[in-house]
Amino acid sequence: MMQHHHFYCKWVRFAWTSIPLLMLFTALLAGCGGTTLQSPPVSQEAGNDPFPSPTAQIAKPDTPIASSYAVSPITISLDHYHSLAEYEAILQALSTQPRSLGLQRIGSSIEQRLIWALGIGSQTPQREVLIVGLTHGCEWLGGELSLALANTLLNPPPEEQEMVAEALVETAVWIVPVLNPDGYVLSGGGDLDLANDWRKNARLFGDPFFDPSRDGVDLNRNFSTHWTDSFDGIRILVGDLNYPGTASFSEPETQALRDFAIVHRFFLSLSLHSYGNVLYFPWGFTEEPVLDFNVFASLAEEIADLSNVEVSFEFPAGYTPGNSDDYFYGEFGTYAYTMEIGDGIPTSSEELSAVFSEKLPGLLYAIERVARLPALGIPLSSSNAHDLSSTP
Ligand SMILES: [Zn+2]
Repeated sequence: MMQHHHFYCKWVRFAWTSIPLLMLFTALLAGCGGTTLQSPPVSQEAGNDPFPSPTAQIAKPDTPIASSYAVSPITISLDHYHSLAEYEAILQALSTQPRSLGLQRIGSSIEQRLIWALGIGSQTPQREVLIVGLTHGCEWLGGELSLALANTLLNPPPEEQEMVAEALVETAVWIVPVLNPDGYVLSGGGDLDLANDWRKNARLFGDPFFDPSRDGVDLNRNFSTHWTDSFDGIRILVGDLNYPGTASFSEPETQALRDFAIVHRFFLSLSLHSYGNVLYFPWGFTEEPVLDFNVFASLAEEIADLSNVEVSFEFPAGYTPGNSDDYFYGEFGTYAYTMEIGDGIPTSSEELSAVFSEKLPGLLYAIERVARLPALGIPLSSSNAHDLSSTP
């Protein structure tokens, strides 16, 4: 029944044969032995926010900032969750690989931590794919899976190199492993001894001292498509688990992703959250079906089958206004999915290998399917923004 049987098998085999590579692979590291990464200077022209305007132009691709760095071999280990510094070191290393488009700083957080995007694939893409991890601080698996996907695309096993190269001839994949670096640090930053369930960013709403009972914005309620700060007519208060901010795009982290999406107009996006092993797609603000429901649903079923998740035809509680999927779809016609990974908030690192082997096939298949769109019947015009007038 699956017309993509051929590719299905190849991707599954590809993913499985990639596991030993993931568990112990050699890459190139900028700098040696834990030296501090240098970051490009933040522009002072626009105050604290280097990308204040939705129309700000971001160079594409950016100059790979690691190009002039000394390199030495490293090992990416799966025996622990990576710290933010390790994420940056690994991204630097991956950005020196031949198929990389380089590492871009797409913005910075409330606490001035940098938000990175790693590009992979075509320099003149017909279509682009976005992968986002760690929108919510405590959802660590999404960040790790983002890195694993990047590594698999850049360092496929020899017998699969031709297939990966083929998939990336006309497609670029941009991976933002840590959209919410402040939230990641607040949730423990990969240290299981410090792990907690903090999901929001580090926005302060009172005195200068962070107060988890009051502060933070839920970034996945801060996007503009049907953004609201009330639920059934009742105001969502500061301190709420899903506090959406004082206005849409009030937060530098969502501004960064917005500005990046305006430049790239992604055809497909996968936002990696935890947990529940569920795949969602728009709308989150209404129970009305999207105009492209059939295409959304069929691709969702394929991805879900390969990644062992269930497709949900509505967002959690049926109502998540201001989420990133609604924004990407509503603004750019992006086939925007959210995958909830794993069975809970991390309690050990032993699940990493299992999660990768289970989830990567669906992610890889989605990228491969985008690369083969003309043959697989998805109209290219779907990448244009959709008319929202028929939705409430
Ligand atoms: Zn989440």
